[in-house]
Amino acid sequence: MENGAAQQACADGYAAAQLFGQGTTYTYDDVIFLPGHIDFAAHDVDLSTHLTKKIQLAAPIVSSPMDTVTEAEMAIAMATLGGLGFLHNNMTLGEQLSHAQRVKRHVPGFVLAPVVLGPQATVAEYDALRAQGSAGGVCVTDSGGVGGRLVGVVAGRDVDFVADRQGTLLREVMTADVEAAQEASAEEALAQLQRSKRKVLPIVNAAGELVRVATRETSLDERRRPRLGKPSTDAGGRLLVGAAVGTRDDDRERVDALRGAGALDVVILDSSQGDSVYQLQMLALLKRAHPDLEVVAGNVVTGAQAQRLAEAGADALRVGMGSGSICTTQEVCAVGRGQAAAVFQVSRVANGLGVPTIADGGIQTSGHVVKALALGASTVMCGSLFAGTAEAPGKYFEVDGVRVKAYRGMGSLEAMAKGSETRYYSDTQALKIAQGVAGTVRDKGSVRRTVPYLLQAVRQGLQDLGARDLPAARAALASGAQRVEARSSSAQAEGNVHDMHSFKKVRW
Ligand code: 5GP
Repeated sequence: MENGAAQQACADGYAAAQLFGQGTTYTYDDVIFLPGHIDFAAHDVDLSTHLTKKIQLAAPIVSSPMDTVTEAEMAIAMATLGGLGFLHNNMTLGEQLSHAQRVKRHVPGFVLAPVVLGPQATVAEYDALRAQGSAGGVCVTDSGGVGGRLVGVVAGRDVDFVADRQGTLLREVMTADVEAAQEASAEEALAQLQRSKRKVLPIVNAAGELVRVATRETSLDERRRPRLGKPSTDAGGRLLVGAAVGTRDDDRERVDALRGAGALDVVILDSSQGDSVYQLQMLALLKRAHPDLEVVAGNVVTGAQAQRLAEAGADALRVGMGSGSICTTQEVCAVGRGQAAAVFQVSRVANGLGVPTIADGGIQTSGHVVKALALGASTVMCGSLFAGTAEAPGKYFEVDGVRVKAYRGMGSLEAMAKGSETRYYSDTQALKIAQGVAGTVRDKGSVRRTVPYLLQAVRQGLQDLGARDLPAARAALASGAQRVEARSSSAQAEGNVHDMHSFKKVRW
């Protein structure tokens, strides 16, 4: 057989343009990719990507600007893992600025917010911290906070035998002769902890004031760094941070303030429907005032919307309408698109104009991440996947014996009551209409533990496709070499675990 005829005989599946051009809107679970040829190992798959035209990330994953998902702690964790966090804007400018500055000041390898007590605190207060899981070795400073003069450290062995917990002060039991280090790097801190076999190493300045704290755990995290990913940093080595803003006059002041403080690398114009004159005006104003600031526009789901915002200067586009786990837009407003179709159609146009896309919403599994990337997205944005983790805002509580945290849509009535209504064009209306729900999600542990596994699973998915990196996956999609099919409902059932009497799904 001639080469061409042989190829035709093997032709199988559909090019994505064929599949998505047939009048049905599809989401991630509706489609499946046909495997390619493997000639490389999974650990050789390179996940590095562009978040925006100018910002590169080692990991194609970012956290959503939602008030139950991203504040400083999540943004720090995400940037440390090679992704990025977008701070939500359902808070005052002062609060958003202080979260952004915390991210910028964070030094990887050290405790985020060290627990510090004063010498007059009681052993009972120390116990209360330990009950919340936040104490191990606690630094004692004269002011009771970071910045005070270090006077001691208290650990379990100092207090375990104290009978009068209410009446005993820390200054009576603490270890006053503390081994501290002056402005040590993460590597130096690790070496010192290894030598001393202690759990905690306070870092002080020349005046003996507490600057930060290293623990065995945070320092070992640094040593595991290649597995955890390369942190996302700016030219000065500080962690990258993004923030969401709206499109009103005071939002321009927000950007000016955050940028002026050197605490903003990329801004998201946060709207559920981004194809508006407001975004076009805001894009023009921001690009004029801050030519070096990367601006993400959206959300969009069609090629025409993407083209308008890309041509207006957007540095990336956020894709998705009605696909979020907490979202009721499609039900309430009858607009939106299946997320797989939206990612494919928007990315096709945007990538052609040199603008990366962010697949936002509907990501529940590593397979969904693989699908989003293989359909042309450069990164994925997650809300529910990261809600309920240790780094998400809010405290854990119990519902029916299950440990949970709150997770809510920014268009839920609860969130809008706090100020997020502009995202849904609802601020001037007397009658507020919810486009999202409020509820809870289970405790998911720390993103520092789950994200590395998630990324490894994504590498394996790309390996199965035969794509060594994201540009290779996009090229195969564009040329039609990557074949896709729609899954019938029984194919979907078959693709999940079935015919088991009982089983436990342990993912990693
Ligand atoms: P998830 O990852 O939970 O599936 O989706 C998160 C995404 O849903 C967010 O990044 C945002 O784009 C979108 N979203 C957040 N809150 C709401 C809401 O209340 N209504 C709608 N329509 N979308 C929301």
